[in-house]
Amino acid sequence: MSKMRAVQVTQPNGPFELVEREIPVPAAGHVRLKVEACGICHSDSLTKEGTFPGIQYPRVPGHEVAGIIDAVGAGVVGWAKGQRVGVGWHGGYCGHCEPCRRGDFFACQWGQVTGITYDGGYADYLVAHSSALALLPEDLSAAEAGPLVCAGVTTFNSLRNSGARPNDVVAVLGLGGLGHLGVQFAAKMGFKTVAIARGSDKEPLARQLGAQRYIDSQAQDVAAELVKMGGAKVILATVTNAEAMSATLGGLGINGKFIVLGAPYEPLEVPALLLIGGRRAVAGWYSGTSIDSQDTLSFSAFTGVRAMTEVYPLERAAEAYERMMSGKARFRVVLTTGQ
Ligand SMILES: [Zn+2]
Ligand SMILES: [Zn+2]
Repeated sequence: MSKMRAVQVTQPNGPFELVEREIPVPAAGHVRLKVEACGICHSDSLTKEGTFPGIQYPRVPGHEVAGIIDAVGAGVVGWAKGQRVGVGWHGGYCGHCEPCRRGDFFACQWGQVTGITYDGGYADYLVAHSSALALLPEDLSAAEAGPLVCAGVTTFNSLRNSGARPNDVVAVLGLGGLGHLGVQFAAKMGFKTVAIARGSDKEPLARQLGAQRYIDSQAQDVAAELVKMGGAKVILATVTNAEAMSATLGGLGINGKFIVLGAPYEPLEVPALLLIGGRRAVAGWYSGTSIDSQDTLSFSAFTGVRAMTEVYPLERAAEAYERMMSGKARFRVVLTTGQ
């Protein structure tokens, strides 16, 4: 039996271990990918630190996977050896639980999460359920595709389902891993795109990504600036700071929607009258399923949206993870296997 490299965690807060494992064989309904690239996401800390309920060790993290199908299990329909695919956070769905029967595949009770409930992409090979696969366009490299199946689909899919229409004011709060993609998607979708971040030094980047307006939250009253523009139809909150989120809510226009993507520990402060008077809403958004990832990849290939990345080889996963956790990476960190 031939071996592969994998980077695993054996206990909560344990170190990353580069180990040799047997190459897994796909069960019925599953395929095996030869992994080319895997992005590192802040949510990988759930595996590293053991904060995801019920996680079992050893576990290989990684849910921003891009690679080539190299083995197909029994009963898989529609996928073949040699296809280039991505696998994101959503690890597949069963098709027969009640949420699935209602079309809410994202809420499937089977609850598969790549790199959390089964081994993820910090490895040379990964086995995934066929319902987790997104077809990769030819003109996207694996390293480009990785971050798009998590950070990408989260921003793309929330924006396209937000109810905003071309020419509406859409503000993206935060200009990090999620935000720098959100600004690009919003601009390419034809929204009047406003980027909000701390400090004037980020303005050139925001403009380069397609923002028409930049608001420096350290120097300006964000809500007042948005109101001057007529109020935002959508505010996409990508930061993890509850105070910054609450301070932006007042910038919503009539029927405006505040969409929460970042997860602060503290609760948000939401004035009830703000919601009632203008029929405003605060909503969360789950990234999406495999077909949403596929649409994200296709749209990105078509319009030129790309994550800004720092690339490390798989064997330097521990260092790459620290780089991501430091908050200094611009903006996503990606592992490549060299395959
Ligand atoms: Zn992620
Ligand atoms: Zn289901």
